[in-house]
Amino acid sequence: MPLLQYVYVLVLCLLSTAALAASPAGVVAVSHPAAAAAGARMLAEGGNAIDAAAAVQFALNVVEPQSSGIGGGGFMMVYLAKTGETVIVDSRERAPAQASADMFAPDGLPIPFALASTSGLAVGVPGTLRGVDLALRRWGTKKLSSTLAPAIELAEHGFRVNRFLAEDIRLDSGRTQLQPETAAIFRPGGVPLAEGDWLVQTDLAKTFKQIAAKGPDAFYQGALARAIVQAQQRARSELGAAGRGRMSLADLAHYQPALRAPLIGHYRGWTLAGMPPPSSGGLTVMQMLGMLEPYPLGDSAQGYGFGSPQTLHLMIEAMRLAFADRAVWIGDDDTVPVPRLGLLHREYLATRAALIQPGQRMNTALAGDPTPWDKTAIPEKPARLPAESPHTTHFSIIDRWGNVVSYTSTIEATWGSGITVPGYGFLLNNELTDFNFLPVTDSAADGANDVAPGKRPRSSMAPMMLFKDGRFVAAYGSPGGATIINSVLNVTLNLIDHGMTMQQAIAAPRLSVTHAAGKVSCEGGQDFMRPGLGIAAQDTLRQLGHVGLGDAGTQGCLGSIGSVQAVTIEPASGAAHGAADPRREGTVIRVGP
Ligand code: GLU
Repeated sequence: MPLLQYVYVLVLCLLSTAALAASPAGVVAVSHPAAAAAGARMLAEGGNAIDAAAAVQFALNVVEPQSSGIGGGGFMMVYLAKTGETVIVDSRERAPAQASADMFAPDGLPIPFALASTSGLAVGVPGTLRGVDLALRRWGTKKLSSTLAPAIELAEHGFRVNRFLAEDIRLDSGRTQLQPETAAIFRPGGVPLAEGDWLVQTDLAKTFKQIAAKGPDAFYQGALARAIVQAQQRARSELGAAGRGRMSLADLAHYQPALRAPLIGHYRGWTLAGMPPPSSGGLTVMQMLGMLEPYPLGDSAQGYGFGSPQTLHLMIEAMRLAFADRAVWIGDDDTVPVPRLGLLHREYLATRAALIQPGQRMNTALAGDPTPWDKTAIPEKPARLPAESPHTTHFSIIDRWGNVVSYTSTIEATWGSGITVPGYGFLLNNELTDFNFLPVTDSAADGANDVAPGKRPRSSMAPMMLFKDGRFVAAYGSPGGATIINSVLNVTLNLIDHGMTMQQAIAAPRLSVTHAAGKVSCEGGQDFMRPGLGIAAQDTLRQLGHVGLGDAGTQGCLGSIGSVQAVTIEPASGAAHGAADPRREGTVIRVGP
């Protein structure tokens, strides 16, 4: 990150930290300054966190179009200060009614991921607009049209392309080049937009204006719906008709978001509200915390503490065990029951933690059987690991009344399917690639994450909230495919075990393992990532048998993992703060005293 930009983020963070006001203020933390400004504008105009979240989401569709938008879906966690309730709006994309378990493997062999994920077959029925609209109608104070206003202005008048958007266009694996409408926006005249270029999106402005005038039905029915259905019939020529999407007008017309109760967990006296299925986010983070709780991870006198090999070893092994369970047991439990109680049962987790050896890497990390600890017995299922992509976006908002939104939103891969709806200027997701490509279906049970009509693909998104003594303390989350789960774990441990502030917890280097096989990725290459994960600690991990860190004596922690945006309440003063991630253009804006 250029120094100036980092200083900018820091100054904003310091500003928000310095302004420890007695009277409450609102704070937005978003991965792009223009989208943060859209949310701040809602707060400044008297809106609440839900209004601001709607404006941020629409603005992100304009300024971070590669990551989220109305062509995608997401999970919005809302804390309502008045009632103390935490609720989730699940706007996850759904498989069309014509979807089938074998659609990604019609001849018994999986279609190559790169082809499937850039064909209409991968497009799920988008949920973001219905989800935002539902949240606004339930808890917002502003009209949908008012929350669209900043996005319309940004799309119509334009904005300056930042380094991250320019990089994503440049390193697009072809995704902005496959479809003419996408290329026309991001590679005008065949030249990729560069940092500093001005981007106007006339079609998108027109789409948002139609939605502002007529409401979400303008998207889910009529001409726009027909254009979506037509667009997802595009397929990579290599796949022919098998690559075409199966979405119908009826699928769009019938799409409804779900309201869900959060998954509640506990860790060292703190209460966590996490994302339940169809995401694996909450369950997997809480499983890892449950396995780690017996160890004094924060105590450097006992050889633990941040970045110590002992701490890192335990984190890696807990990740491997939790990801092994995730692969087998977790999917959309509106369709296939997930043994949630068993997966989080203290005794079950003790059996899992007992597999961790202090001085040696486990050879294999297999899924366990949580069903004896669950109310309903579930037949055992073999594991399948779908490929996942590293993009999406997370933002967090608190308003002056103490309402909070923690929202992770996506079109799946960076650039989604790469298909822009002709004439409407937004990208369609490729979320259905989060399903198993090869079905696990057998006579005993459907695979938890096999494709089925109307089903939601398993997600990793993990918007999280933290409470102490019944009071809200923090909201956070991250993009990053399966690494989301580990970014949220790292931040949680940094806050609770290592006593960091939220900004420190975000900046600190992260470690991630997303498969039971256990290839470690970790960070440390950038200046702000402090305290570092030292080469000596990495060497100890290598000696314990951990893989993915490269040669002994070298810096093996060079990755960049996630992008966390957070808001917090200081328990003593009640003051609100924001913290944002320098890994993207993370921005905190404080509104009010
Ligand atoms: N499809 C991903 C999921 O739901 C989106 C998250 C991401 O790629 O960052 O887990």
